[in-house]
Amino acid sequence: MARVYNFSAGPAVLPEAVLKEAAEEMMDYRGCGMSVMEMSHRSKMFDQIIKEAEQDLRDLMNIPDNYKVIFLQGGASLVFAEVPMNLMKNGKAAYIITGQWAKKAAAEAEKYGEVVRVASSADKTFSYIPDCSDLDIPEDADYVYICENNTIYGTKYWELPNTKGHVLVSDVSSCFLSEPIDVTKYGVVYGGVQKNVGPSGVQIVIVREDLIADGPAFKQTPTMMDWKIQADNGSLYNTPPCYGIYICGKVFKWIKNMGGLEGMKAHNEKKAKILYDFLDQSELFKGTVEKKDRSIMNVPFVTGNEELDKKFVAEAKAAGFENLKGHRTVGGMRASIYNAMPIEGVEKLVAFMAEFEKNNK
Ligand SMILES: *Cc1c(COP(=O)(O)O)cnc(C)c1O
Repeated sequence: MARVYNFSAGPAVLPEAVLKEAAEEMMDYRGCGMSVMEMSHRSKMFDQIIKEAEQDLRDLMNIPDNYKVIFLQGGASLVFAEVPMNLMKNGKAAYIITGQWAKKAAAEAEKYGEVVRVASSADKTFSYIPDCSDLDIPEDADYVYICENNTIYGTKYWELPNTKGHVLVSDVSSCFLSEPIDVTKYGVVYGGVQKNVGPSGVQIVIVREDLIADGPAFKQTPTMMDWKIQADNGSLYNTPPCYGIYICGKVFKWIKNMGGLEGMKAHNEKKAKILYDFLDQSELFKGTVEKKDRSIMNVPFVTGNEELDKKFVAEAKAAGFENLKGHRTVGGMRASIYNAMPIEGVEKLVAFMAEFEKNNK
């Protein structure tokens, strides 16, 4: 069996220990004679899986009791609609545009109410996070929306915006569980799980109870997208993405074993430092975003020569470094170095880059 170093932005690398355990349990989950894929979502077995997953997530993120945790399906993109459908009670929201995912979320919300784009970094191809210390946020905005880690461009908010008392909604898809966060600073924290937590299709929504206590913003909100109904039913209103939730649960336990979110942060900072330190001294490769806003999950870089970029991606692939091609809107390369990427993977990539640089002077 040959595993590659997978630098994909998503679906992305998962911990080997998790994959092995899932493989062992595939035919017979803990003596029940069937796979998790085959069992009823109303069974005792699955009830334990989903409850344990929620509890482990609560422990890891230190989620206060007045926040609901829901596991839904449809990925992060469906949440783009869930957010306004549940929260846009005044029919207005403020969006900060730092990349494709924030842009898409704003466009989706606009179908349901007024969207005020209070800041943007589109002027420089989203290569920085705008100053959000004193934004012109409408008084009656229901929430302020951010995409906290910009998967495509490789930027991250290292300081949350000053929302001036408004509820903060954050898409953390690509930085989920990568470091500790203070959940109380948010009204909603959500993500699709296929970047850092599990298989695609599952979304995790962490929402402050009072925001959904009276039900959604619109009576037409589909039942499946109604966070209050989903929370009241413990994410079991219908058949949830059972197998995906099971894998997420295993990843939560893996993170606990790795020292929780503090441990993850140290592990991730170490990897990012190895790569950025190399980029900063390289005469061939350059990072593409402002240093102060650099993500420690997604690292885009270029040589400045498209042909050479292509050659690098091809040679890297042949050497066992997969999915390094940059997003089509940025070009060049992107290394996604999520939680499950081992330090050794980044060290080997950097050694490969150094060798490539020497050979292509
Ligand atoms: C990948 C990604 C999405 C979209 O996720 P889907 O599950 O494919 O809808 C949204 N936001 C961010 C930040 C992402 O990285």
